[in-house]
This record gives sequence, structure tokens and C-alpha cells, in this order.
Amino acid sequence: MAKKTVNDIDVHGKRVLLRVDFNVTTDPDSGAISDDSRMRLSLPTINLLRRDGAATVICSHFGRPNGKSVDKYRMTAVRKRLGELLGLEIVDAGGPSGDATRIACGSLKAGQVAMLENVRFDPREEANDDSLAKDLALLADLFVNDAFAVSHRAHASTAGVAKYLPAVAGLLMARELEMLGKALESKDRPVVAVVGGAKVSDKIQVLTHLAPRVDTVLIGGGMAAAFLRAKGFGGGKAEVTATEIAAAKQMLADVRPETLVPDDVVVASEFARTSAASLVPANKVPDESLVLDIGPATSSRYSQEIAKARMIIWNGPMGVFEWPQFAGGTRAVADAIASNRQATSVVGGGSTAEVVEQMGLREKFTHVSTGGGASLEFLEGKELPGVAVLIDR
Ligand code: ADP
Ligand code: MG
Repeated sequence: MAKKTVNDIDVHGKRVLLRVDFNVTTDPDSGAISDDSRMRLSLPTINLLRRDGAATVICSHFGRPNGKSVDKYRMTAVRKRLGELLGLEIVDAGGPSGDATRIACGSLKAGQVAMLENVRFDPREEANDDSLAKDLALLADLFVNDAFAVSHRAHASTAGVAKYLPAVAGLLMARELEMLGKALESKDRPVVAVVGGAKVSDKIQVLTHLAPRVDTVLIGGGMAAAFLRAKGFGGGKAEVTATEIAAAKQMLADVRPETLVPDDVVVASEFARTSAASLVPANKVPDESLVLDIGPATSSRYSQEIAKARMIIWNGPMGVFEWPQFAGGTRAVADAIASNRQATSVVGGGSTAEVVEQMGLREKFTHVSTGGGASLEFLEGKELPGVAVLIDR
């Protein structure tokens, strides 16, 4: 069901509580912000609220303070950076609870922006405690959720607060829901799903949910071993459960979607950065080795399938891309997707987004989701608590 967004409501003269994901990356030594892209992605929502005459109270988490005040996770640097990005003084509203915070938020004028202290300093946030949801609701007239990446968590500031305030999607949230939704309901065929990652057990739900929605599934990553076993090949020494093999067998037996498994794979005797890589046919994986990437013949067959696609969904690297000798398959697949100009391409998953980013290909993809775990749960067909509470259109 489509959700109402900030574009569907009148925010003029209203106070808006805006949940964002400003969980920025910081330099481990200096603590300085090293990557503020998460902040930049919510600027359109903030600018819209300002332009349309709302007073905005920003709420975010930062790091893992585990319900306690931790100095290095204060919002101070984030607040300062937001001020620079907007060319505006951001009011430090403290809180999230207490009279001073209520007064600071209550006295904001149209167009002004305030920021609360790290909401995860309060143990009630992750417990989704109703009393915090109520405290947050007291600060505003409307709730806007732009934090797709935390919307799979039922926390006070993502789900709870929507019990007490009308709740709509921010522009980033709306884009995530639109693009991930499109990927799962594509009328443009063929739809090709590229699925990899560390283990089949992590991805069974994704495969199950994608199967009736796609035409072709290209299998890579650690789960390749289970598919090789399902075909009656050795598959190497990786532990594969009977359930995983059964799931793989079922997929191979189904006519639609067509499931392709590697013809050749890159193997090593140990799971280590320094392991020597060797290329073997998929039916000749030595019993004492691990499948750590798809091989070049597989990459080129997968690339041909990708070239024919009109919609491409990618979740999970094809190999251990962090180590150069096992990165070839992931790179080839990323390049193939980037080269297909007729297809819509949607990437979900934290590691997969990282690969696209590292390869400098983000602009060549239609949508790279900002939600690691959240995008995975979306592709699994789960209802995300922070999305479910938003008003239906
Ligand atoms: P995402 O975060 O995009 O959903 P996953 O978390 O499922 O992706 O998988 C990412 C991890 O999978 C990477 O760290 C990568 O090294 C690992 N991986 C990929 N292929 C293999 C493999 N053949 N064996 C073990 N690990 C693998
Ligand atoms: Mg991951």
C-alpha cells in the first residue's frame, strides 16, 4: 500500500518531528565526520519542510550508546555540519524529554530547524517505550519519517511516536519505498535477480519472496556451495545443511524462475585474506576447499543474462569482494548491471551498496538503497514497523 508523503500534506505553520538517519561515519582517531552522505540524503526533505513554512525538530540516533549518554556520540558535530550544509543556525534542543526541550521546540518559528540529542541515549528508544513516544509527540504536530534504514526496527522514534501524531514519509523514505516496491512488482520483463552473500540461510527468505516475482535468478556468494551440492556436486568443505540443499533443489526444479548456478568457481583452502585462489569447474571443487567467488565463465554468462534484463534486483556480493583475489565476480556483475542502460537497477543490502559505492558506479544504478537490514527485510516481504505506521495514501 502506498504511503502518504510530505508532498501530500500541508505543513504550513506546523511543527514537524523529522526522524532521520544521521548515523554518520566518523574517523576512528579524531572522531571527525568522515562521510556525511547520510545527512545529504535527507536535505531535500528538510528543505521542503522549511520552504513550506514548517518548524522542524530533527531526531536521529548516532552510534551505539546503548541507552546511556556517551560523549563521543553526542550530536554536536552532526548539528554543526547540518548548519553548514543548510547555511542556518540549528537550535540545540537537547532532550529528547524534559521541559527545556519542550520550550525550545515550542518556540521555533516557521523555517527554523532544531535538533534533539542522540535519541539512543535514552534506554526507552530501543525498548519502544510508550512514555518516550509520548514525550516525542509533545514536541510536534506531525511526524515525518525519513529514516528508511532504521524502519525495520520498532523503536519509540520510528514506530511508537506514530501512535500519537499523524505520520507520513519523507522524500528519501518515499523514494526507497517506491523503488524497492517497483523492483518487486515490475511489469518490465525480464526481471533478473542477482543473489549472493555469505550464507544461504541468510537469503532463503529473499529467494522465496523473489521467486514468484522474477524471471531469472543468478546465484553467487557462499550460497553457491549449497546449489552445487543440490546438483550432486561436492561443493567443497563449507558446511551446508540439509534444509539449505532442499531449498536449492526446489529452486533448481522449478521452471520459473530460471535459476542459474556457477559453471566455474574460484576456490581456496582457507577463508583468509592471504589464501591462494584457484579456478576450478563447478563440478570439480576439491573437498578440502571453499568456494569464494564465481569464475570468469560464470561472470560472462551472468553478464549476458543481465544485458537482457529490463529490471535488475541485486542483493549480495558474488564472492568475498573484500579480498582482491575473490573480487572478480562481484566486479563483473556490477559492471554488467551498470552497462545495461535499458534496465531499472535496484540494489539492496549493506555490503552490496558498499561494493557499488567502492567501484564508483552509484550514478549508473537507478537506486542504491540506504537501508542495509531494512532493504533486506523489504526484499524478504516483511512489513517494516516504521513503514507500517505511516498513513496509507
Ligand atoms: P548484503 O549486506 O549486501 O545483504 P551479505 O551480508 O549477505 O550482503 O553478504 C556480504 C558478505 O558475504 C561479504 O562480506 C562477502 O565477503 C561475503 N561473501 C560473499 N561470497 C562469499 C563466499 N563465497 N563465502 C563466504 N563469504 C562470502
Ligand atoms: Mg550484510
